[in-house]
Amino acid sequence: MWLCSCTRCVQPTRSTQRLESHVTAIDHVDATVGSAEEPPASGTKALRDATAQLRRATDLLGYPDGTYKQLATARRELSVAIPLRRDDGSIELLRGYRVQHNLSRGPGKGGVRFSPEVSLDEVRALAMWMSWKCALVEVPYGGAKGGVRCDPRLYSAAELERITRRYTSEIMPIIGPARDIPAPDVGTDEQTMAWMMDTYSVRQGQTVLGVVTGKPVALGGSAGRADATSQGVVLVALEALKSREIEPMAAPAAVQGFGKVGRAAARLLSGEGLRIVAVSDQFTAVHDPGGLDIAAVERHVARTGTLVGFADAAWESDPSELLHLDLDLLVPAAVEGVIHAGNVDGVTARVIVEGANGPTTLEADEVLEARGQLVVPDILANAGGVIVSYFEWVQGNQAYWWSEAEIQSRLRARMLSAWDRVTTEAASRRVSLRTAATCLAVRSVAEAHASRGLYP
Ligand code: NAD
Repeated sequence: MWLCSCTRCVQPTRSTQRLESHVTAIDHVDATVGSAEEPPASGTKALRDATAQLRRATDLLGYPDGTYKQLATARRELSVAIPLRRDDGSIELLRGYRVQHNLSRGPGKGGVRFSPEVSLDEVRALAMWMSWKCALVEVPYGGAKGGVRCDPRLYSAAELERITRRYTSEIMPIIGPARDIPAPDVGTDEQTMAWMMDTYSVRQGQTVLGVVTGKPVALGGSAGRADATSQGVVLVALEALKSREIEPMAAPAAVQGFGKVGRAAARLLSGEGLRIVAVSDQFTAVHDPGGLDIAAVERHVARTGTLVGFADAAWESDPSELLHLDLDLLVPAAVEGVIHAGNVDGVTARVIVEGANGPTTLEADEVLEARGQLVVPDILANAGGVIVSYFEWVQGNQAYWWSEAEIQSRLRARMLSAWDRVTTEAASRRVSLRTAATCLAVRSVAEAHASRGLYP
């Protein structure tokens, strides 16, 4: 049994056709979908976790309370109303945000999310994690994030274009190649980035390639950007397995989320010889203890938009059941807060590599650490995307393009160097990889603050 996820139509359905008609139908959508009211609570939990991680790091680093407060508070927050003209002529009002958490090390950098879960607190948490991620992998950016509260599957392409262009127009005063550079995230893609870049460029009167990353290659995107996050996930996953003396060949693995990150992570892990026994999206999980044919799964999703009804799976289940499988490697690559106090007891994977941002809550993280399960934190594991976004920005600014091989080798070098620094720090401080990574990143940002001094 599956649930249609649109907010007006929360009812179980047993057939793929019915589910698809729920997902694609837009005639039952009204102004409450993606409206400016009632922000979801999940973002508040993510912000609580992000600030608790920061507190732990500043305590370990011996920083005064003033430094903690400075780093816990976003530098700039913009909340915008987005009036949308629907295809049927009605007007709907959406809420959008852009938060710049820290700009001490360079312009803001971070994705734009289109999701019904978007709230100011969620964007604040994600922006803070971006600050640490950029510092950890030594790219010259601060942290930022943005989002529009809406379910993109409920809008036509023309409506999505209007949402994107109006949102871009509203946040124009604070973005730009030297100010803040958006990228794709949940519910957005290279087409969204192309519209953002075009809107910004038209308003500037000239083409500005460096205003966003994750663009189509034909429009100044970088070779290798589309799979960069997943490639980074796989590079550190292989290191993590090695550190636990787990042979990757035929090792059972599962990937939660079959979007931009999860899909390529499953494909690349399978290419490294791991046995992908399950993958999930928000509707279902598909299982095969002998290993799924990921290419066939990808073809099914490209055709239908969902994993539901993938005929070559041994069975389907509720998506959350994937977390409780007997695994060597689990890659949560969907949304935040999926491994929590209520389900962590059943999460037995030996290695967890966070493809998503914030998939493990504070309470669950403590349980996993106490049980000796290795968690590779998001700010390290999924940093491949921002690394190649940085390469895209550098190439765009210079109007000089690198080969895919150059991108791959530079990405690999940065990911493995970050892995080495984090594991060394963890060993010397006797802390988890998450605490070690946060300490390294927070120290780098705090040093930038100290060198610049406080104005005035
Ligand atoms: P996406 O929108 O392309 O895909 C999200 C996937 O998660 C979809 O398959 C969706 O069905 C699934 N999903 C949602 N809720 C789920 C649930 N409860 N259980 C199982 N599946 C669920 O998004 P994406 O770009 O792949 O991003 C996924 C995560 O990775 C997010 O946390 C994002 O912030 C993070 N991330 C993305 C990038 C990037 O380059 N796209 C970079 C770094 C981090």
